[in-house]
Amino acid sequence: MTTTQVQEDVRMLTLTIDGQTIAVPEGTTIWDAARKLGISIPVLCHDPRLAPVAVCRVCAVDVKGARVAQAACIRQVEAGMEVTTHSDRIERSRKMLAELLLADHPTPCAKHQKNGNCELELLGEKYGLLQPRRSASQKVTQSEVRFRPHVVENGHDPSSPVIAVDHNSCILCDRCIRGCDDIQNNEVIGRTGKGSHAHIGFDLNLPMGESTCVSCGECAAVCPTGALFNKSLTIDIALPQTQTIDSVCPYCGVGCAIRYHVKDNKIVQVSGRESPVNHGRLCVKGRYGFDYALHPQRLTVPLIRRPEAYPKGPLSEDVRGEDGQWQRKPGGIVDYAEVLPAFREATWEEALDLVASRLKGIRDQHGPGALAGFGSAKCSNEEAYLFQKLIRAAFGTNNVDHCTRLCHASSVAALQETIGSGAVSNVFADIQYADAAIVIGSNTTENHPVAATFFKQAAERGTQLIVIDPRRPQLADHARYYVRYKPGTDVAFLNGLMHVIIAEGMTDPDFIEKRTENFEALKEMVQHYTPELVEKLTGVPADHIRTIARVYGKARNAMIFWGMGISQHTTGTDNARCLISLCLMTGNIGRPGTGLHPLRGQNNVQGASDSGLIPMVYTDYQRVDNPAIREKFEKAWGVPLDPKPGLTVVEIAHGALHGTIKGMYMMGENPFLSDPNINKVRKALANLDFLVVQDIFLTETAEFADVILPASSFPEKEGTYTNTDRRVQLGRKAIDSPGQARPDWQIICDIATRMGYPMRYHSPKEVFQELAVLSPNLAGLSYERLGTTGELWPCPNPNEPGQSVIFTDSFPSGKGKFVPAEFAPANELPDTEYPLVLNTGRVLEHWHTGTMTRRSKALDAIEPEAFVEIHPEDLYALGAQDGDFVRVSSRRGSIILKTRIGVRTQKGSIFIPFHFREAAANLLTNDALDPFGKIPEFKFCAVKIEKMEGEGQHEQIAVVQ
Ligand code: SF4
Repeated sequence: MTTTQVQEDVRMLTLTIDGQTIAVPEGTTIWDAARKLGISIPVLCHDPRLAPVAVCRVCAVDVKGARVAQAACIRQVEAGMEVTTHSDRIERSRKMLAELLLADHPTPCAKHQKNGNCELELLGEKYGLLQPRRSASQKVTQSEVRFRPHVVENGHDPSSPVIAVDHNSCILCDRCIRGCDDIQNNEVIGRTGKGSHAHIGFDLNLPMGESTCVSCGECAAVCPTGALFNKSLTIDIALPQTQTIDSVCPYCGVGCAIRYHVKDNKIVQVSGRESPVNHGRLCVKGRYGFDYALHPQRLTVPLIRRPEAYPKGPLSEDVRGEDGQWQRKPGGIVDYAEVLPAFREATWEEALDLVASRLKGIRDQHGPGALAGFGSAKCSNEEAYLFQKLIRAAFGTNNVDHCTRLCHASSVAALQETIGSGAVSNVFADIQYADAAIVIGSNTTENHPVAATFFKQAAERGTQLIVIDPRRPQLADHARYYVRYKPGTDVAFLNGLMHVIIAEGMTDPDFIEKRTENFEALKEMVQHYTPELVEKLTGVPADHIRTIARVYGKARNAMIFWGMGISQHTTGTDNARCLISLCLMTGNIGRPGTGLHPLRGQNNVQGASDSGLIPMVYTDYQRVDNPAIREKFEKAWGVPLDPKPGLTVVEIAHGALHGTIKGMYMMGENPFLSDPNINKVRKALANLDFLVVQDIFLTETAEFADVILPASSFPEKEGTYTNTDRRVQLGRKAIDSPGQARPDWQIICDIATRMGYPMRYHSPKEVFQELAVLSPNLAGLSYERLGTTGELWPCPNPNEPGQSVIFTDSFPSGKGKFVPAEFAPANELPDTEYPLVLNTGRVLEHWHTGTMTRRSKALDAIEPEAFVEIHPEDLYALGAQDGDFVRVSSRRGSIILKTRIGVRTQKGSIFIPFHFREAAANLLTNDALDPFGKIPEFKFCAVKIEKMEGEGQHEQIAVVQ
C-alpha cells in the first residue's frame, strides 16, 4: 500500500479540547491533537518518537463521560469527544505525582543543574514543590540503595566514556529502555530489581561501560532527568548558554542531520535533528566524535620540507614498550615531535608560489600526464568540483581520483554498464515497504549504524531480512535468514540463486521482455549453477540456496543492499553484475520497497563522484571521451581538455613508483594507510619529485610531502554533501578554523590562479551554481532549495521534492542489460605457507585512516588499539589466548597486534580493521585490481599467523621489504 493510498483511507474525527474544536486523523492521540492546538499537556514517560506506554500518568486528562482520567499520550481521539486538560482535579493529581517522584530525586539533578531542563523538576517548579531535598553528590543511605552495590557506588556509574549514569535521578519512566529498543534497536537496557529496588540495568546488570552498549547516546537524548547524561568532552558548559547551528554528520554516507551546540568557538555537544535521513538518531561517531576539530595537533600554518629532510620517507614510528603495549604517540597517529623538524613554517604566499611553480614546472617539462591529484570524499561537492576542474583545466590531465576507487568503483562500473547510472534506485528507508531485503557484504550496524536501525525496525515489522556475509555481522541477529559462504564465492552463490529463480518460474517475464536485454545469455550461463554444484563451491547447503531464492523470488517487493564485502574484490564488478541481474529478472525495481542500493561509505563519496572526482567522467558521470560532452566542458571552462580518461588511484601509485607520475596534489586523502600493499605506496610516495598535501592534520602521507597546506575541518566551512540516498545537504559553518588554516575551496582557487588558470569565486554557493548548471541530475538544486534537511536528486519539478524512487519506467541506458558472470576464484588463494584468509574493514568507532576518530577523546577511549579477530579453533591451534600478541604476515608485509577471539569470523579466516597505523592492515593486503572497476582486493588475501614469544613481543612494527 502506498503512502498516498494510506492517506486517502484516513478518516478525520472532530473533537473539542479545552473548548477548542479540531479535526484530526483517526488514530491521533489526545496529546498529539492538543499539541496541534498549542495546548501543552505535561508528560514524563512519553516522547514523540516513542510508542506511548502511559506509566507516569502525568498526562492524564478529563474526558467527558469517562469514569476515570485518561492518559492523553495513549488515548486515541473519538468523534465528538470533549477533553479538559487542566481541571482542578487533574492539576491536583499531577501535583501529587510530581511530589511523590521528587521525594526520591536529587534536586537539582545533573540535567537540571546544567541545562535547567529536568522535566520532573520543571513540573516541580510549576507546582511549587522544588525545595532542595538531596543534592546529586550527597550519598544515599543503604536503605535507599536501589541498585546492586557491586555495580555502582552511590548510584553513580562512571564506566561509560560518554554517558554519566545516576540511578538516583531515575524515575523509571522507561524512556531510555524504549529509546534503546524501539529507536536504535540495540536492546541493551532493561529493568532489573523488584519493588523499591527496581532500577534500569545494562545487559545482565553490568556497568554501562562494560555492557554491549554501542554508545549511540539515544538513552541520554530521551532521558527526561539527569539519570543518563552526556559527559563533557570539550568545555563544561550548560547547553542553554550555547549557540546552535544545524549541519550534517561528517562521517559515513548515511548523512545524519545534526545540530552543533557551540560556545567560544568550541563545539560543546552534538545532537540529532529531525530529518527523513535519521529522524533524530545518531551513532557514537556522529554524537561524540566531534572534538577532533579542536585537537592541538591541527595544522595551523603552511609547512615546507627542509633540504636536510630529503630523501623522503616515513618520519615517525610507533613502538611497543616493555609491557608489550603500543606506546601511543600523542593523538595516536603521527608523532609530531619526530615529524615537525623535517619542515619549516612558511607564509601562504611562499607555500602557494612554491606549489604552483613546481607543479607547473613538471607539467611543462614532462607533460600534463606526469601530474595527478587525489581529492577526498570527506570534502564538499564544491571542493570536489573545483579540485577536478583544477586537475583537468590547469594541470591538463584527467589523472584525478579519490577513495571511491577503494570502495564502490566496481559497483558503479556494473551499474553504469547494465542500467546506465551508478545512482541508488531507492532511498534506504524504503526498506519499510519491502517484503524481503537482502543485505550482502555489509557490516551495516558498524559502517552505517543509523541505516541499520531502519533495517532492524523493518525486520521487526515483518520484512524478511536476509543477511549474507562470510563474516557474521551483528545485523544477522535481527535477520530471518543468515547465509555464510566461503570468502570470495559471491558470484557462485548469486548464480545459484538465479538458477533456482529461473528453474522454479519466479522471474518476471513481462519486465524482462519490456525493460531488459540479453536475458537468454544469462539464463544459459546460470543453467549449470545448480544448488548442488554451488553447495560444493560455497559451502552453503543446497536447500538453503533454494530457500533464499524463493524468499527473494516470491516477494512482491524486494530490495538489495550491499557494501564493500561485495565491491572490494578482483571480482567486484562481477559480484555487482549478479546482484543487478537478480533484481532485473524479478522486476524488483522502480517501485517503493524495491531496487538496488550500494551503501556509500564516506559522508560525501556519492557527491564527490557526482562532482567529477573520477578519471573517466566529468560531473554527473559525463564521459571525458565523448566529444560532445568534452566540448560542453571546454566551452564552460574556457580551455581545451584531455580526451583520454585518466589513471585511477592504484594506477597513479604505480605510475609514481615507476617514475611516470612525478608530481601530485593530495587533498584530504591518506593513501599511506588507505591503499593496498602500502610498502609499495611508501616507495611510490617517496619517489615523487613533488608532493603537496592539504589536510587538517599531519597525516602519514603528509610525512612524504614537500609542502603541507593547513585546511579547514568540516565544522569550519560551508558546503554541500550528498549522502548514500542521493540527498544533497548543506553543512554549515559552526566554528572558525585555528591559526591560518583555510577552506579547501579557497586554496584550490589560489593554486589554479597561480598556475595561470584564474579561478575566482566568492563563496561555495557560487561554485554550487556552476556545478548544478553543468550536471543534468543536479539541475534545479540551489542552496535556497536545500533548506534544513536537503533535497534528493534528481528533482526535475521545482514544486515537488526530489525523487526517492528512480528508474520507474526506464533506465538511463534504455533497457537494463543482463551481464552474465562466471565464478572465478580470488587473486591470491591460501596455501600451505599462507593458510588463512585476511578480511579487512572498519569498526564502529573509527573512520577510514583514523585521522579524525583517533583524535576524538571518546572514540579513542572506546576502541584504542588494533586487533586481529580470530576463530577460537585457529587461535588455540597457535597455542595462543585471547589478548596475546601475534605476528600476521602476507607476501607483502607483516604486522604485530593483539588477538581478539570471536566466532563472527569463520574458521580459516581472520579480520583486521585498517584504521591503525601501528598495525596497518594494508601492509598485508593485495593490490591486484578488478579489471573493470579497478578496485583492489581488500577483502581477500592469504596470510599466516605466528604467536609472539618473549622478546619478540616488544618488536617494532614490521615494515618489511
Ligand atoms: Fe554520522 Fe553515519 Fe553515524 Fe549517522 S550513522 S551519525 S552519518 S557516522
